Amino acid sequence: MELFSLIVVVSVLYLMLLFFDSVFKSCMHHPYDAFLRKTGISIKFFRLQWHTTAFNRLILKWRYICPRLLSKSFDIGVYVTLIILPTVTILLLISVFYTPPKNSVLGESVKLQVVLPFVTLPIEEIPYYVIALIVCSVTHELGHAIAAALEDVPTRAFGVHLVFFLPFAYTEVDQEYMSGLRIWKRLKILCAGIWHNIVTGMICYLILASVPQLASSFYNINDSVIVTSIRPRSPVSAGNKGLHVHDIITHINDCKVRSIKTWFNCLQEAIQYQPAYCLSTDFVRANDESVLVSHNNQIIDCCDPKNKKAICFEHILEKFDDDTELPQFMCLDIRSSIEHSSGYCSRKHRCREGQCFKPILDNSTTILQLQRWYQNDMIYIGHSNDFSRNVKVSEFVPKTSWFSPHIADSISLMLRYLIVFSFGLASINAMPCYGFDGQHLVHALLHNFKNPRFPNDKHRKDMMALGINTFGTVILFILVTKTLWISLIGHLW
Ligand SMILES: [Zn+2]
Repeated sequence: MELFSLIVVVSVLYLMLLFFDSVFKSCMHHPYDAFLRKTGISIKFFRLQWHTTAFNRLILKWRYICPRLLSKSFDIGVYVTLIILPTVTILLLISVFYTPPKNSVLGESVKLQVVLPFVTLPIEEIPYYVIALIVCSVTHELGHAIAAALEDVPTRAFGVHLVFFLPFAYTEVDQEYMSGLRIWKRLKILCAGIWHNIVTGMICYLILASVPQLASSFYNINDSVIVTSIRPRSPVSAGNKGLHVHDIITHINDCKVRSIKTWFNCLQEAIQYQPAYCLSTDFVRANDESVLVSHNNQIIDCCDPKNKKAICFEHILEKFDDDTELPQFMCLDIRSSIEHSSGYCSRKHRCREGQCFKPILDNSTTILQLQRWYQNDMIYIGHSNDFSRNVKVSEFVPKTSWFSPHIADSISLMLRYLIVFSFGLASINAMPCYGFDGQHLVHALLHNFKNPRFPNDKHRKDMMALGINTFGTVILFILVTKTLWISLIGHLW
């Protein structure tokens, strides 16, 4: 609903801008025209454009900052891009015919989806999405502009398109100057955007990899997770014994929680292996509340339906165990049984102390015993999918109240977005595809390819470039449509 409101607000703002724009233009409102000319802003249908020549001189000056290093760096950029171009094309061609299996049943599988604004993107992550898009497209365009300046090609203008609320930067370099350059220099300018994206992605990756070390002075890392949010009115937070924001969780059942990854692994394990408990014979005898055994939807039940705190347990006997005095099914108070157990049974249902009792639950229900710092264990009975949807945790547990886990989480999330967008933009731009750098790269390479066996006819080379770029565009179109469809379906169902 929040997302829908945002779409409505942005649409209304655009419609108002369009209305006032057409009114002022039709009235020949001179101050308005002067304002648009001075600022370089133009208003189009659900699109704003900002065009400026203010940075042209500044960009020309940057060629004097380490020109040798920059030139060498752009040389490497050409080699890397020429490797990426065919690799990405082949990988995308394979991706058209391959759909990855959905191997996780928990919330983490969402990460495999394409992040689509308005569809799979959580509303709170839209600012990260927009900032990453601005940073990556500006660094890309700066790459072209600086490489052009190094080769004495002037930059005509720099600008940003705001399509709905997604920003895309662009640079206009002088095409006449550029076409007069030698092939290698032209390739350096064409590949510079992709190279800048790759360098940005690598720098962000290195920073992300060192976040645990950098943050270790302020946060306990790799030891537990902290609850950062719980959905309102969630059954998880009910009562004093429920889960609360800032609770620090160390274990789910007998699985140690150290990070977000182990948090999801432990939840997954809780679904796959329902826990069983080692209980003393005296305890079960004293607390058994069994009624007549019945079958409810093919699930054995031995408790009174009015008794909501108790669950029917199955007494699992080992082959060599001859203690058959206890009945096979016993109704026990779930919290009290877990608290009085001497531990979990092994995977083979063996106990060091006491005997093994397994709660009888349907396949979609599981028991989660959450061990917390400074508090009693929290016991949750329900679907672990619901649990993971209702509870959000952070692996950055603050050492003092001065720091919030949100600070470190926001930095990590921003870095992740920057990495994905940097490598994503680099890959897409390297594709031989209309509207991207790959299109111009293919054209430049074919027209400068000198080989006696290769036809030197301009028309035939144009036709070859047309064929390669059309092929790349079709592949990209099919892949984008397929990915959007899978993500949409995955999100709706
Ligand atoms: Zn580019």
